[in-house]
Amino acid sequence: MNCMSRILLISDIHANLAALEAVFSDAQGQYDTVWCLGDVVGYGPRPNECVDLVREQASLCVMGNHDWAVLEKPGIDVEDFNPQARHAVLWTRAQLRAENRAYLDQLPAQPLQPPVTPTVLVTHASPREPVWEYILTPTIALENFALFDAALGLVGHTHKPALYRWQFHPSSAENNDSAQPHGMATVDHLQPRPNHPIQLTLSAVQRLIVNPGSVGQPRDNDARAAYVLLDLTAKTLVQRRVSYPVELTQSQMRAAGLPKRLIDRLSFGW
Ligand SMILES: [Zn+2]
Repeated sequence: MNCMSRILLISDIHANLAALEAVFSDAQGQYDTVWCLGDVVGYGPRPNECVDLVREQASLCVMGNHDWAVLEKPGIDVEDFNPQARHAVLWTRAQLRAENRAYLDQLPAQPLQPPVTPTVLVTHASPREPVWEYILTPTIALENFALFDAALGLVGHTHKPALYRWQFHPSSAENNDSAQPHGMATVDHLQPRPNHPIQLTLSAVQRLIVNPGSVGQPRDNDARAAYVLLDLTAKTLVQRRVSYPVELTQSQMRAAGLPKRLIDRLSFGW
């Protein structure tokens, strides 16, 4: 039994408070708990307010690459970021209050398996590279499915909503002389349509990787904030999009002196 069955799944908020608030109000009454797939900060103008909200609301949150970069820890070099992202990381470092920094610092950089049914693996980027790898193709998804057992993998990082469906096709019984099932796994990439609930069929031969897209900086040519409502008991999933006052976030970014390219992209979702 899951007492927290209806999950609001958010990712890649990137300090865009107007977008995060729009998501919470759009989803109001439709979830029991919030899971955050990382990158609470970076790029956007309201890091403290976004961390405050996530700290308050999310029962689970994992470390994203931008969260990590802001912490100035060994293992990550801000010089590896592109110039605009680096500018935002350095600006965010200077803004972040001590308790919010401490919150980001304790986020797990390894995948989490919350105690729910069906089994779920939660990570920012991928099971293979929890903070860094972009799952953007069925081939990369297939390689990652081989590295975890859970029925459902939840990832963010690409800023593009996606579903990857893994299916195992057993080979015929006469060739099967060992205890191990023989056969072949395939993955297809499904594009979830906004606001169309999907019934999840999960089993030993059918699993899913779900990416809810980005709250604060969508990159699929749709400027609206993206998130997912996942119901583990009903086994349904809905991809949602919600408009938010993009101009408000953009004016906050201008006031903060954040790079123009980061401001402009929010109008278009790239
Ligand atoms: Zn991100």
